[in-house]
Amino acid sequence: MFVKNLKYNLPDKDGFFGEFGGAFVPDEFKKVLDNLDAEFEKAKNDEAFLTNLYELLKDYSGRPTPLYFAKNLTNYYGKAKIYLKREDLNHTGAHKINNVLGQALLAKRMGAKRVIAETGAGQHGVATATAATLLGLDCTVFMGEKDIVRQHLNVERMKLLGAKVHSVDTGSKTLSDACDAAIDYWIRHADEVFYILGSAVGPNPYPKMVRFFQSVIGAEIKQQILEKEGRLPDYVLACIGGGSNAIGAFHAFMDDDVNLIGLEAAGEGIDTGKTAASLTVGKKMILHGKRQYVLCDENGKVKESYSISAGLDYPGCGPEHCYLKDSGRAKYYPITDDEAVAAFARLSKLEGIIPAIESSHAVAYLEKLMPQTTPEQIVVVNISGRGDKDTERLLQLLV
Ligand SMILES: *Cc1c(COP(=O)(O)O)cnc(C)c1O
Repeated sequence: MFVKNLKYNLPDKDGFFGEFGGAFVPDEFKKVLDNLDAEFEKAKNDEAFLTNLYELLKDYSGRPTPLYFAKNLTNYYGKAKIYLKREDLNHTGAHKINNVLGQALLAKRMGAKRVIAETGAGQHGVATATAATLLGLDCTVFMGEKDIVRQHLNVERMKLLGAKVHSVDTGSKTLSDACDAAIDYWIRHADEVFYILGSAVGPNPYPKMVRFFQSVIGAEIKQQILEKEGRLPDYVLACIGGGSNAIGAFHAFMDDDVNLIGLEAAGEGIDTGKTAASLTVGKKMILHGKRQYVLCDENGKVKESYSISAGLDYPGCGPEHCYLKDSGRAKYYPITDDEAVAAFARLSKLEGIIPAIESSHAVAYLEKLMPQTTPEQIVVVNISGRGDKDTERLLQLLV
């Protein structure tokens, strides 16, 4: 149920998607990444490893997640048929567990006893703590001091799951600084620690590894839509933070005639400076070990990102999305906070499904897309996670 052997054959052996990606790290650390790359390639071709992983995805996380025909939402627009891929029904509430179970199993296979992770909103931290507990691995999560205060409940969940939460008090004390701190710690302890990275970012092999573990999303969509409709969809929509749920949903369709659309967080608007739309307004530079589009000022200094959604609030973006944007194979559009909040309420009212505020960015794009579609067409929206975590905060905005 993972995607292999496509005609679309990227990244290259050095981890480049065109001019993006790569592994910009100190030389001695390059060896660690090369070893990880080799171990990952072996694991991904080992049927016993894949069977073991799929058993966990199935019995522990609840895969396959449903592909649900959203009749009310479809009637609301009166155009193309809309299907929702229900990643929100996964254990721990989002797609992140797919990747985390994969990397944690790989860590065990490589003999690691300890794992570390970075987290912003705490979702990836909770997923990592969960997988670590399940597989008997010691777990430390790096988290910005500001986020620890803002995301108190997730901090308590991680502790309950037996993880240590390491407070990061440098820089803006948020996700980007937690990434720096986790990478720094990893470089100093690489012989005994496995770094479970939370999105399709970081130096090679992480972007392709995360894509592989998340490709289960698109592989299932393909099988499910063929069963239900006998043909492929016309559009696949997904929100973009670092880009893991989107690349997971897109990958199975890379060789097909399917429109792939990523929705990034415009925040208060792409011209306001309070935005996270790195693909729309970012510049090409190196951050966290890879070349990509990054939000920065005139002097090339990384700018703090802003979005109402903590999961999309990151100044960079995965290298493959940078490549797919420039090549035109996928399209990317910014969605504002207000548009996402309206979509959050709309999907809740029409379908009884409360989406994560991240996923609401993908749902919001239907407002623009649907008038251009016809009733014969099919649109799939990836609902990356559930919105329980956002409800209290968003209700204050909706009254
Ligand atoms: C973390 C998160 C995202 C953003 O991460 P990607 O790597 O871009 O998928 C999106 N949706 C939810 C529900 C999340 O928790």
